[in-house]
Amino acid sequence: MGDLKGWLQTRRAQGQLRSLSPLHKGTAGHIRLTDEPGELIDFSSNDYLGLSSHPALIAAATEAISRYGTGSGAARLMSGNLAIHQELETAIAQLKGKEAGLTFGSGYMANTGIIPALVGRHDLIFSDRLNHASIHDGCRLSGAKTIRFRHNDPAHLESLLKKKQENQTALIVVESIYSMDGDRCPLPALVELKNRYHCLLMVDEAHATGVYGANGGGIIEEDGVGAGVDLAMGTFGKALGSYGAYVAASKEMIDYLINRARSFIFSTALPPAVAAASLAAVKLIRQEPELRRELHDKVRFFKEALTKGGISAELGPSQIIPILIGDSKKAVAIAQELRTLGLFVTAVRPPTVPEGTARLRFTITRLHQEDDLALAARLVCEKLSTN
Ligand SMILES: *Cc1c(COP(=O)(O)O)cnc(C)c1O
Repeated sequence: MGDLKGWLQTRRAQGQLRSLSPLHKGTAGHIRLTDEPGELIDFSSNDYLGLSSHPALIAAATEAISRYGTGSGAARLMSGNLAIHQELETAIAQLKGKEAGLTFGSGYMANTGIIPALVGRHDLIFSDRLNHASIHDGCRLSGAKTIRFRHNDPAHLESLLKKKQENQTALIVVESIYSMDGDRCPLPALVELKNRYHCLLMVDEAHATGVYGANGGGIIEEDGVGAGVDLAMGTFGKALGSYGAYVAASKEMIDYLINRARSFIFSTALPPAVAAASLAAVKLIRQEPELRRELHDKVRFFKEALTKGGISAELGPSQIIPILIGDSKKAVAIAQELRTLGLFVTAVRPPTVPEGTARLRFTITRLHQEDDLALAARLVCEKLSTN
């Protein structure tokens, strides 16, 4: 750690110092900053379907609090295991087309618990270079030899898989929709590789569950590859409007994780209200596909407005829309200017993304209004043409 003050100063000078600012939720799709008047259009939320304020989730959480109280009181293997946890796990297993499910305290905890349970010192991990930090940390914690393959490049992955020994245990781990680039993994090709080279395949659907698939089961459902994915992981904190995470897998795999995933074993069970809200969300996304349709309509509308406004860059296939700026300071400056104009958009910069690829990251939600999206697109296009 060393010299704190010096470290902070250097970071600040590089335009890379992160800090927290307090905020309030505003009307749908908006936030308010404590120290500034007026509302900002929020382009940084992962609450893609707006479920965190949905009456069905609020009712389920409220009911669970009156029935069970606020905390679960212990880890699942102690006395913290409630019927609501197991109901949620059954529902998530069904959604993902697997035999069983297991919940975790968060996505970070799921990835740092599951990966070290699966592989160890003598094993291999093939990890997409742009995987989320929690996946990288899980890989490191496992002690397995981790080989990062080029982002979304199955040919590169295959050239690396050829070096794997026949009987060596290996895990391929990817995201289905990438959190910073908003692009989509070539899942069928990955399933073929994992079969050909006898690996386990784990897919993190943090940004896809609820948003893709006929029932909201994510890219795994949309691509119809449930059987080929050994571990279908995802979170409840994004499109599902709640908190926590899950993995769906074979019954055997789940029994194994219950005994081996340390972030599951040694951590308090999810609060009953949180589990109840997640369960309500899983039911809702199956029953109301129009929630997804409304979101995708808004995404299409915003992208068309950007393109018409003169942005020629590829805007990607999903609700996560990166606009590449390059330099960190410039990205921060543009985000700051947009803030004064009423848009809350994050400048994503290293180390979250590779050096020289700082960007504005827009996330679209179902709650955005079309006139807000049109206004935002116009402001962004103006800023980019004058910068
Ligand atoms: C957000 C995210 C996580 C972490 O989930 P939390 O529940 O927020 O801890 C893991 N993986 C990916 C791809 C994510 O985007």
